[in-house]
Amino acid sequence: VTTTQAIRVLPDALVARIAAGEVITRPRAAVKELVDNAIDAGATRIDIAIQAGGYDLIAVHDDGSGIRSNDAPVVFTRHATSKLTSLDALTQVRTLGFRGEALASLAAVADVEIRSRHRDEALGTRIGCAFGGSVESSPIARQSGTSVVARDIFARYPVRRNGVDPAAEGRAIRRLVGHLALTNPGIALCLSTDGRTVLQTDGRGLRAAFAALNGSESLPYMLDVGPLLADGVNVTGIVSGPAVHRGNRDGLVLSVNGRLCGAPDLQRAVERAYVDVLPRQRYPQAVLMVDAPPERVDVNVHPAKERVVIHEARALATALERDLRALLGRTTHLIAEKRSLALQAADLPGLRLAESGGQYATGEWGARIVEVGSLPRLRVVGQVEDTLIVCESEVGTLLIDQHRAHERVIFERLMAQESVPLPEACLLALPSATLALLDARHDDLHDAGWRWQEFGAGQLLVSACPAGLEPDDLLPIAERFAAETAHSIIAASACHAAIRKRRPLTPEAAAELVSALTATPTPTTCPHGQPIVLNLDRAFLERQFGWR
Ligand code: ADP
Ligand code: MG
Repeated sequence: VTTTQAIRVLPDALVARIAAGEVITRPRAAVKELVDNAIDAGATRIDIAIQAGGYDLIAVHDDGSGIRSNDAPVVFTRHATSKLTSLDALTQVRTLGFRGEALASLAAVADVEIRSRHRDEALGTRIGCAFGGSVESSPIARQSGTSVVARDIFARYPVRRNGVDPAAEGRAIRRLVGHLALTNPGIALCLSTDGRTVLQTDGRGLRAAFAALNGSESLPYMLDVGPLLADGVNVTGIVSGPAVHRGNRDGLVLSVNGRLCGAPDLQRAVERAYVDVLPRQRYPQAVLMVDAPPERVDVNVHPAKERVVIHEARALATALERDLRALLGRTTHLIAEKRSLALQAADLPGLRLAESGGQYATGEWGARIVEVGSLPRLRVVGQVEDTLIVCESEVGTLLIDQHRAHERVIFERLMAQESVPLPEACLLALPSATLALLDARHDDLHDAGWRWQEFGAGQLLVSACPAGLEPDDLLPIAERFAAETAHSIIAASACHAAIRKRRPLTPEAAAELVSALTATPTPTTCPHGQPIVLNLDRAFLERQFGWR
C-alpha cells in the first residue's frame, strides 16, 4: 500500500475513538512501528540495524514511496497521518498504521532523524527532532525511500533505562523481525545487531523465508496450507508435520490482513488440530496468513495493535481445524536423516531363516493392494520382525508399526462410538483402593463409554463398555495409565486392546489392518503422538545408497 495522501492531523473526535496508550515503551516497540511504516510505504527491501538492544541506535531503511517534502513539517506531530481521514475509514483500515502516533512518540524519547525522498519528487528532505524539541528540516539528495535513525532512546528517562537488559531486548527484536519476515515473505528483510547480520530473507516467498530463519533441513517437514476459504475469509501458510515440534508456542506465527498479531480463536484451533498428533506439551510450528474483509476485523482493540478481534471467527476456526487434521492425516513421517539406519541383518527373522537354509515363504504377500483411504495407494509387501508391515507406495516404501496402527484404528472407533451395552451385566469384585480409583475417574470413564454401578461391598456391576473391549479390561486400563482425561483414557484403552509387537500376522490380517488404518483420518500418528508410518522415500534411498 503506497501512501499517496498528504499527512493530516486527525480531528479530536476521531482521536478519541482510537485505542490510546503508550506507543514506545521499549526499543522493540520502536522497531515494530518503524518497520510497519516501511511496509505501509510499499517497501520491497527493509534493512534494520540496532545497537545495544536498540537503546543506543535503531535504524530502519526502506525503498518505499518516501515522504513528500510538503509533509515534512508534520511527520512528528501527534495524530498526523496520511492513512486515516474519517471515522468511517477506521472500520476499513488496510494499512498497519492509522493513529499517527509512532513518530511523535519516538521523537519524544529519542534523538530522531528521518531522511526521505518521495518517488515523485526530485529532492529529498532531512527532518530532525530530538527529545520533543523543535522540528528542523532541510533539503537533501538521496535515492527514493526512507531512512529513520533513532539514537539514545530513553537517554533522558533514567527510570526507563534502569535495570534494562540490552541483550534480552536484542533477542526480543530478533524474534520480532523473524516473525515479521515470515508474515511479509515478499519483502527482503535484514537485521543486524551491533554490526553483525543476524537475520536475512530474500523476499522470494514463505518457504524461502522459513528456510532462511529455521534452516532448510526443516523445509521438507513443512506442509502447505490453503488457500482455505471459509466464511469470506482466506487462510494460507505453512504448518509443521507431525515430526516437527517444539516445547513452546513461539513457533505459531499469525497475521491478519498483513498485521502480525495474536488471534486466540485461531491459535486454539491450530493447537486442537495437533492434540493427538504431537506428544504432550509439544507445539507445532506454523505461519498462517489470514485475509479477511476489513469490516470483519477490529484492529483498534490494543494500543500496540498486536492483537486483533475477528468477528464471528467460530466457523473459520472450525474449518481451519478440520483442514489441518486432514492435512496432518495425509502426511507420512519422513525418516530424519540424522538417525542411522544400521539394520542388523541377523535380527530379521526372515533372513535368519534364509541363512539357515529355510524357506522365506512369501505366500500371498505382495498380492494385496489397499486402494482408498487417507494413505496413498499401497501394496502390502510383507511383515518384518513380526512387528512392522512393509508396503510399497508411489510416495515411497512405508514401514507401518502394527501395534500403533491397530491402536489408531481402535482409538478412532472408541472416539466415534457410544458405549455398547453388555448382553448381561458383569459383576467384578475389586479391592477398595481400586474402587476409589475408579470412583475418582468416574466421569472420564463414563465419557469413554464405561457404565457401572456399585453393587454391595467391594463389587461393581458393569453394564456397558466401549466397543471392542471387555469388562475385565476396566481394571488394567484404569490402573495402568492413571489417566487424567477422557482423551487419554481412550488412548490408554486403545493401547491396551491393540495387537502387540512381535506377533506374526497373516497377509490377510496385515492387509485388513492397513485398510482399517487408511480408513482413519490421521493414520500416520498414534494417539500418543508417536509415528505409525515411516516413509523410506525415494530421495532418501537415493541419498543413502548414493544412487545419484
Ligand atoms: P501512522 O503510521 O499511524 O500514520 P506514524 O507516526 O507512524 O503514524 O507516521 C506518520 C506518517 O509519516 C505516516 O502516516 C506516513 O505518511 C509518514 N511515514 C512514516 N514513515 C514512513 C516511511 N517509512 N515511508 C513513507 N512515509 C512514512
Ligand atoms: Mg506508523
